[in-house]
Amino acid sequence: MSTDPNTYQPDWQPRGAGSKYAGFVMRGVGDTGAPTAANAQPARRNLSIDDYAQGILSGDRMILSRAITLIESNAPKHFDQAQALIQKLLPYTGKSMRVGITGVPGAGKSTFIEAMGTWLCNNGHRVAVLAVDPSSSVTKGSILGDKTRMEKLSRDKRAFIRPSPSGGTLGGVTRKSRETLLLVEAAGYDVVLVETVGVGQSETTVRNMVDYFLMVALTGAGDDLQGIKKGIMELADSILVNKADGDNKVRAQSARADFDMMLHYLRPATEGWASRAYTCSSLTGEGIPEMWGVVEDFFKTVRGNGVFERRRREQVLRWVNDMAEEHLHRLIDENATIAAAKSRIEADVADGRVPPTQAAKEIIDVMERELFHAGA
Ligand code: GDP
Repeated sequence: MSTDPNTYQPDWQPRGAGSKYAGFVMRGVGDTGAPTAANAQPARRNLSIDDYAQGILSGDRMILSRAITLIESNAPKHFDQAQALIQKLLPYTGKSMRVGITGVPGAGKSTFIEAMGTWLCNNGHRVAVLAVDPSSSVTKGSILGDKTRMEKLSRDKRAFIRPSPSGGTLGGVTRKSRETLLLVEAAGYDVVLVETVGVGQSETTVRNMVDYFLMVALTGAGDDLQGIKKGIMELADSILVNKADGDNKVRAQSARADFDMMLHYLRPATEGWASRAYTCSSLTGEGIPEMWGVVEDFFKTVRGNGVFERRRREQVLRWVNDMAEEHLHRLIDENATIAAAKSRIEADVADGRVPPTQAAKEIIDVMERELFHAGA
């Protein structure tokens, strides 16, 4: 189905109808068809799992958007449908280059993604942009993957942009984002850019979701380097000093050299690959093709030395473990008997009546009874 605002026809209009049917739907700027609270259409036809699968495999963006909404739903019925769909699509997943992008707000991530995404589309790629932002549920609005900030790319039919799901917990956002990644791969997007920001654990989460991780660094006052946590630098496969243009160019180049020096002394994020720093300007486009050249070199290296395969396998196993552990934590947190026992025993420990090891054993006994012998 066409999503071009000038040729898009509503579903009720006969196919091939000429100017007799003058109706066409004006789309909002940057609207790629993703249903939001504002434009949701409750009366839409229900799709079967097969409808979803076929739509996605044939590259139907509207159906892809609806399937992602299914994944993002917290209703148990939708959960089951989404799992059935993912199972069906699994053979068609895994073929994209998964690229994570992080950086503090204002570093220029959106501008860079717009520039890089557009360049990639013009060079034969299809690009999906996803975002992982655990704060979106708190602030009720995502600052990442915002289509209005990537206006040009969001109008490009070769690109698909989806803002961060609001999953409540980081675990919820992570599951939804990982599953969305699989769907966009099945839909044929061969480059997936996953944007995140340094909030809590989200950078580690995205690192564990992607093959290649890029940190967009901000140049400014002389304290650039101190502002960057060493731990984050150790996750990065490359550091990109953006805004290397105009008066800032010389400063950006000197920041690049400083980052390079620091990276030299850090443990590399990926075995067999030397993390380096680069410059670009997302405004002028200078350095964008070269940056993609680095990404391609990276993939050539890790595919050649087996690190790519191994990392993907580790990532999927870690994902399974994380979900299982999270489920266990939720069972514990939601159990009233365990909560009551915990607060009683904790008070005993705090007052010095029970030694810590004994207290832990008592709590574990209650957990075992409640979780594993419930109803016995
Ligand atoms: P984000 O919060 O990391 O997504 O940052 P944005 O992409 O919104 O960019 C923050 C500001 O930096 C905006 O005003 C951009 O126009 C500006 N900016 C981004 N990239 C460049 C660049 O390459 N050169 C210059 N001069 N400004 C840039």
